Amino acid sequence: MIYIGNHLSSTGGFAEMGKHALELGANTFAFFTRNPRGGKAKEIQQEDADRLLSLLEKHHFGPLVAHAPYTMNLCSDKENIRTFASDMLADDLQRMEYVPGQYYNFHPGSHVGQGVEVAIDYIATALNTAMFPAMQTTVLLETMAGKGTEVGGRFEELKAIIEKIDLPEKIGVCLDTCHIWDGGYDIEKQLDDVLKEFDQIIGLEKLKAIHLNDSKNPFGAHKDRHECLGQGYIGSRTLEAVITHPLLQDKPFILETPNEDAGYKQEIAWVKSVMRK
Ligand code: FE
Ligand code: FE
Ligand code: ZN
Repeated sequence: MIYIGNHLSSTGGFAEMGKHALELGANTFAFFTRNPRGGKAKEIQQEDADRLLSLLEKHHFGPLVAHAPYTMNLCSDKENIRTFASDMLADDLQRMEYVPGQYYNFHPGSHVGQGVEVAIDYIATALNTAMFPAMQTTVLLETMAGKGTEVGGRFEELKAIIEKIDLPEKIGVCLDTCHIWDGGYDIEKQLDDVLKEFDQIIGLEKLKAIHLNDSKNPFGAHKDRHECLGQGYIGSRTLEAVITHPLLQDKPFILETPNEDAGYKQEIAWVKSVMRK
């Protein structure tokens, strides 16, 4: 089996998100560590975090997949933006310890013309500064669509970052189906080969979570626009193959589809029905 859930708003606090997830039929969820556009994070209450932790245990949730703000660019060409991003990353990783044992996913960043190698160095340095031996969170690099100067559109780029990390057991990858489809990995016709390539380059043991999205764009478009499950170019047959793939079991699957609660509830129910088939 897999764990299934969606992105929830964190404005009401941790315990509130847990209740919301249950209402939607989820057994994992994602949340932004702060406003997705960046900025100040809310104070965390340990009691609130503890209430969530007991809910997760009671209802047998899988790991949660927190998401860093989209604006966090660790490899910007501007020093002040890099510093802002690195500080945010370090602060987020400290805050994640209120809910130990979860995942923290982020977009590697955009190199804005400096080239991938320079960017990989910046990203790895920021991670090595922010990560600490006692941390109980696993940091996940997200596979990207390769839009503009995005880093992480190829498995090789993620591998190059991982190789530079001082605490290798605390780093992994989150695979986004819309992104890799847009990025040119043909999960429709060659899902097994794509996973084999992932294994050869990064290693499947590093694959910790899935962002389950359809795509508004055809294969290889390098666009990154998510669509509801079954309504985009990836289609429900391919998504079913992903959900039921033997190599992808026991992982949290997070929906990042353009939905409100009712739509998420439906998609979660659909994913569960596919799992049971
Ligand atoms: Fe993302
Ligand atoms: Fe994603
Ligand atoms: Zn995306």
